[in-house]
Amino acid sequence: MAQKGNIGVTTENIFPVIKKFLYSDHEIFLREIVSNAVDATQKLKTLIQSGEFKGEAGDYTVHVKVDKEAGTLTVSDRGIGMTEEEIDKYINQIAFSGANDFLDKYKEDANAIIGHFGLGFYSSFMVSKKVEIVTKSWREGSVAKKWSCDGSPEFSIEDTDKAERGTDIVMYIDDDCKDFLEESKISELLNKYCKFLAIPVAFGKKKEWKDGKQIETDEDNVINDTTPLWTKKPADLKDEDYKEFYRKLYPMSDEPLFWIHLNVDYPFNLTGVLYFPKVKNNLDLQKNKIQLYCNQVFVTDSVEGIVPDFLTLLHGVIDSPDIPLNVSRSYLQSDQNVKKISTYISKKVSDRLKSIFTNERKEFEDKWDDIKIFINYGMLSDESFYDKAKSFALLKDTEGKHYTYEEYQTLIKDQQTDKDGNLIYLYAQDKEEQYSYIETAKNKGYSVLLMDGQLDPAMLGLFEQKFEKSRFTRVDADIIDRLIVKNDDKKENLAERDKTILNKAFSGNLPKIDKIDFMVDCQALGETSAPVIMTQSEYMRRMKEMSRLQPGMSFYGEMPSMVNLVLNTDHPLIKKVLTEAQAVAEDIEIPAPEPKEGEKKEEPKKDIKVELKDNKVVNQLIDLALLQNGMLKGEALNNFVKRSVELI
Ligand code: ADP
Repeated sequence: MAQKGNIGVTTENIFPVIKKFLYSDHEIFLREIVSNAVDATQKLKTLIQSGEFKGEAGDYTVHVKVDKEAGTLTVSDRGIGMTEEEIDKYINQIAFSGANDFLDKYKEDANAIIGHFGLGFYSSFMVSKKVEIVTKSWREGSVAKKWSCDGSPEFSIEDTDKAERGTDIVMYIDDDCKDFLEESKISELLNKYCKFLAIPVAFGKKKEWKDGKQIETDEDNVINDTTPLWTKKPADLKDEDYKEFYRKLYPMSDEPLFWIHLNVDYPFNLTGVLYFPKVKNNLDLQKNKIQLYCNQVFVTDSVEGIVPDFLTLLHGVIDSPDIPLNVSRSYLQSDQNVKKISTYISKKVSDRLKSIFTNERKEFEDKWDDIKIFINYGMLSDESFYDKAKSFALLKDTEGKHYTYEEYQTLIKDQQTDKDGNLIYLYAQDKEEQYSYIETAKNKGYSVLLMDGQLDPAMLGLFEQKFEKSRFTRVDADIIDRLIVKNDDKKENLAERDKTILNKAFSGNLPKIDKIDFMVDCQALGETSAPVIMTQSEYMRRMKEMSRLQPGMSFYGEMPSMVNLVLNTDHPLIKKVLTEAQAVAEDIEIPAPEPKEGEKKEEPKKDIKVELKDNKVVNQLIDLALLQNGMLKGEALNNFVKRSVELI
């Protein structure tokens, strides 16, 4: 019995719509067709289990074949097949209500359209000029049917010969889609979308090297792993299994640091494995992504909105039939189920980290440098994660020792509380560059944290909000006695006039460095302290650092850095310079400018002139301070070396 009819759609013709709107994503047709084949096979398995189907099950393998000559790509299964009535119901009558509106709204998002209309099968028309369904139902006495459609709303259906139960979808590939007749292209797509389908999928035969040539064997080339790791019970898995699966997902990456096996069935269904990767550089972070599956069918590797933002940096797989995949991203983000999933994943991750911290602290500390970026990012971007992570997140000091926030607070409480009761956390950003300051602080009995991570500048800000009465100060922000001010009494040192003279002696010899403003200051720091110490105000430095990370703060970035040059008036060399400067100091008067009419002429200004140009000691002291802070470069460095040799 042959039949002709029109496919029940309310739009003029669905095919131009499919081709036009779905063009960008058109490779997903293969995922749709192969997963239909897998579904039909799984339905048959269910019928066998329930005893409804009593026939010979046979081999379930789904076969994908390319016939270049005929120009066809065929997907064959041994599933339940379809009767003529079923074809009519499932293929011909596509319910299309308000199609135009919907297509307009979601024209960017092929997944949404396909899911909404159950267009899975019809996506084959994105790449085909004609599609045939050759199918034979599992029901006893079924007649095989061939449905055929050339991309117009007209289809035909007729009896055909087919020995085996199941369905062949034969796609006559469009001339402008010849790619999909290339073995390599199909391999690539199967590998992307079908790698973990639950029913074996074969593409051609396995190949073997023989006498320097590749030859086909008789064995099916099965492209998928039907029971991927995340579908198994954690109790049955060993560390090596997790590592091996990771290699399968990301062949070029280093071994992961930790993993978390996700497994929930209430109030939603979700399984998966998330890995903490060992990140070598920022590029790695972009490249490998969490893959989202729906019943083992690959959907996407952009999981924004489904997992919390900071966890998108992790690797691995999430599989959930409950995530509404076929909707737009904005809908996804407001979906309650999705929100629950996101909260669940975040909690699982923090629970797992906490348990590693508690049970294997040594291992946790060893991996801290690598996982720190994930944890800090989470703490910065997600308040509830901060609350969970604060008990296991670590601080590291410049000697490489690790502390929890609470442990560290206890450690420094006695030594590092200032006169106003503020706890002062000292830190260094570079152990080498700030070496002398770190040493000075340590000699004073202070502890210095190493804050050299990418996110540390932002973490400081967060800590200052979260920790009560606490401040973070870089070790070189001030001279040691003023880093943590313990009492008000200031040692009076020099007379004002002498201070001015010293100040001028040094100011007149300071180099001009782009974007650096020097301020000279005199302090009595004791005979054993360095003669000249350079410090940088914490506030300005931090503002400049933040401006580099945040657009809109470039104002600070443009400003010069303020560097304080503190002269130690107790030091014999400074005393010597003072004596020399005093000898050449002259009191001068700077006359006030001529007054405007009717105004009185102001008194001349009193000042002191100190001509101490090319003083070797002054220059040498300045250069030493610059050198210690990595600021002596190029010609200035050369001059310093020469002068040093002369002095020897
Ligand atoms: P969906 O899979 O989302 O239901 P499709 O358009 O892909 O939408 O398929 C429509 C229906 O056609 C399926 O639900 C199924 O009943 C039937 N069908 C499609 N492919 C096959 C197949 N290979 N074997 C048996 N039935 C199929």
